[in-house]
Amino acid sequence: MEILTTLRQIREKIPPKGSRPRPVSLVPTMGALHAGHQSLVERAVREDGQVIATVFVNPLQFGPKEDFNRYPSTREEDIALLEKAGAEWVYFPDPSELLPGPIHFRITHPVAELYCGAFRPGHFSGVLTIVSKFFHLINPDRAYFGMKDRQQLFLISRLARELSFPVEIRPVETVREPDGLAMSSRNRYLSPEDRKHAPELYRMLLQARDRYAPRSHADRLDLPSRIEAQMKERGFRPEYVSFVHPETFLPLSSDDPPGAATILLTAAWLGQTRLIDNIDIPGTHV
Ligand code: AMP
Repeated sequence: MEILTTLRQIREKIPPKGSRPRPVSLVPTMGALHAGHQSLVERAVREDGQVIATVFVNPLQFGPKEDFNRYPSTREEDIALLEKAGAEWVYFPDPSELLPGPIHFRITHPVAELYCGAFRPGHFSGVLTIVSKFFHLINPDRAYFGMKDRQQLFLISRLARELSFPVEIRPVETVREPDGLAMSSRNRYLSPEDRKHAPELYRMLLQARDRYAPRSHADRLDLPSRIEAQMKERGFRPEYVSFVHPETFLPLSSDDPPGAATILLTAAWLGQTRLIDNIDIPGTHV
């Protein structure tokens, strides 16, 4: 695996489209890698990709009071994990080269303002800006994103489609700890006590999925507020719990057909750690 740090190296090492022996597959990350990131790289390799992983803590996607300055960094372990997973290149961009000055353009989308976007103003604009830059600079054939960050995955798929980036976005299932907690670089912020409670978040989503089908339409639409109440009883501080339309990513409403397939999406604080998770709920004909 080669370690790249400059745009010149990117230009020299990544073959241009048309002369690639295999599809170039991009896996963007912020480092502090775990088995979730590893599964993205392994999937890309299994699907015959020549993988370029990027490791960049993107300042554009952090709010002024967020954890940019203390975001975990485990560079040596990241290199070992990526090498083992079969990446061909890892790109650690030099921030002053990738972001030589302020960026005044903003990529916006109505869905970027909802859910996580409502609590993290500018977050998705920052994500979409840096991902666009990677798409331009690397010109990958494919890019892999995790379903854990479901809203991000939706927005990046739309970015590629609506702005005609010639890249195929491939989603990867959430990798979980044995107790169900979605793996995240931020899980290391959890105190030992909170770490024990954290899997309850996913358990509540599983429970909601099981309760969805047998209920009446009105009762179903009421589930998110009941889950929020349940979360609070269990010591979480929920930001939102929402049923989301899988195609449009807009909130499910009483106008949608009863029993429509949906995604249950949530973000909640536990102690000093912000957790996000989601679950697919299949449609029902009850
Ligand atoms: P991050 O380093 O948190 O920005 O994540 C980089 C990529 O890894 C994103 O596409 C995430 O959705 C994905 N990812 C993070 N955690 C997981 C997980 N537990 N399972 C699958 N993919 C993940």
